[in-house]
Amino acid sequence: MSKKPQELIELSSIDKDIDSYTPQLELLEKKIARSQEKIDDAKEEIAGISSSIEENATKISSFNIQISELATQLKSSEKKSKEISTEKEMRALSLEDDIAREKITFANEEINRLSEANEKKNEILEELNSELVKLEAKQSEINSEAVSQKEAIEKSKAELFATREAKSISIDQKILSFYEKIRRWAGNTAVVPVRKQACYGCYIKINDKTYSEVIKSSEIVTCPHCGRILYIESEIAEA
Ligand SMILES: [Zn+2]
Repeated sequence: MSKKPQELIELSSIDKDIDSYTPQLELLEKKIARSQEKIDDAKEEIAGISSSIEENATKISSFNIQISELATQLKSSEKKSKEISTEKEMRALSLEDDIAREKITFANEEINRLSEANEKKNEILEELNSELVKLEAKQSEINSEAVSQKEAIEKSKAELFATREAKSISIDQKILSFYEKIRRWAGNTAVVPVRKQACYGCYIKINDKTYSEVIKSSEIVTCPHCGRILYIESEIAEA
């Protein structure tokens, strides 16, 4: 094979290698994002339970205030009862006392119910907090792992870029810019093999004339259908 197509095949292979790191980098980013998502979800759940605990605590304290007010009311009614003379007044006062006692009973029941609920919520909160600690530890592990993996990838990529740079200097600038132009739309399929007399970029059969030119491979041959640069694989093995 002549130097021209061979050089492009090699260059295209380096470009493929450089691009092959992209999914790895994306995977790392996804892993980090997923772990952050879990942490965010846990934090959201913690915040939700915390605010519900706080709400219950506010209700408990307002019931406590109510109880102390009712207790004061009952005490003053006890004093009043000593000054009362008529039965009608006595009945009215006793009715008020009954209502106050009922309210106190209800408030106490509510305090018990809310306290029990908060006890359970606090248990859940404790579990969630320890879960969060674990998630954060895991995340810092993932992060430091990702950093070292990214460093390794960047190092390999830098090496490939250097090789690419050295190779592209030796390639005819016209051919290079021709390749770059195809690469802009064809990406990593800018240079494709011909298999069963078909272009492996667009999968359309090429005519005999083009096919024989590719086999000769003395010049750059492009697919008449899609414009990608073609080569015969067996020739590479020989080269
Ligand atoms: Zn084609």
